[in-house]
Amino acid sequence: ASARRPLIAGNWKLNPATAPEALALLKLVVANQRALESSGRTAELPDVAIFPPFPFLQLAVDAVAGTGIKVGAQNVGLEGKGAFTGEVSASMVRSLGCQLVLLGHSERRLLYGEDDEMIRRKVRLALDGGLDVVLCVGETEAEYEMGLLPAVCALQLKKALHGLQPADLERISIAYEPVWAIGTGRTATPAQAQDAHAIIRSVIAELFEHEPARAVRIAYGGSVTPESIDDLMRMPDVDGALVGGASLIADKFSRIVEFA
Ligand code: PEP
Repeated sequence: ASARRPLIAGNWKLNPATAPEALALLKLVVANQRALESSGRTAELPDVAIFPPFPFLQLAVDAVAGTGIKVGAQNVGLEGKGAFTGEVSASMVRSLGCQLVLLGHSERRLLYGEDDEMIRRKVRLALDGGLDVVLCVGETEAEYEMGLLPAVCALQLKKALHGLQPADLERISIAYEPVWAIGTGRTATPAQAQDAHAIIRSVIAELFEHEPARAVRIAYGGSVTPESIDDLMRMPDVDGALVGGASLIADKFSRIVEFA
């Protein structure tokens, strides 16, 4: 879509179960990426990112070396350092060679009680710690049916991005992820995704003026498959995809990276 370089990102969630399995998946993902990169169409390829679980981040950073794949964490804690047992900081993740972090995923919001204020603090900490951010927003099915998509997405964006400068936005991509589409097999239609992305872009314009809104990437997430990616990517405001389930199958992920 437009001049924005697309972003295809894989969210591995709590998968796979062990480090050897993670390494096996990484090898397949890297082999596919190398094949795409050596096809001579490098200029056409999107930015590619994977978000493995914390214990596999170093494996991932090492495995993707020499390819264009970026590695990110699925979350970071609310503190920079100190007596916070069990937490992980942005600078720790950065120091492994990771470049990104996923924040505000609906599973964090709904299963682990992350609210917009926590997400706002994490966005600030991530940027200060040297990580670029993929910020997830999206409405639940009940909210969608009540016509609250614009209000919910606007509130989530305004709260998470509060206090940031236009220059900060250059390090943030948005993922529109309707909760009703995540892991359900119910992909939003291209028209539904386009409508939501246009709304999100208009909220960003309200917050940061026209140019940052024109430049920000808005990826769609929610049951994206090799079958649905091409039509989604034809929409003018759909700048990529955040892929859950299909990112665990290397050939499916590669086909999504290679969208028409
Ligand atoms: C996700 O978790 O970000 C996601 C979009 O999952 P899935 O593709 O499995 O719906």
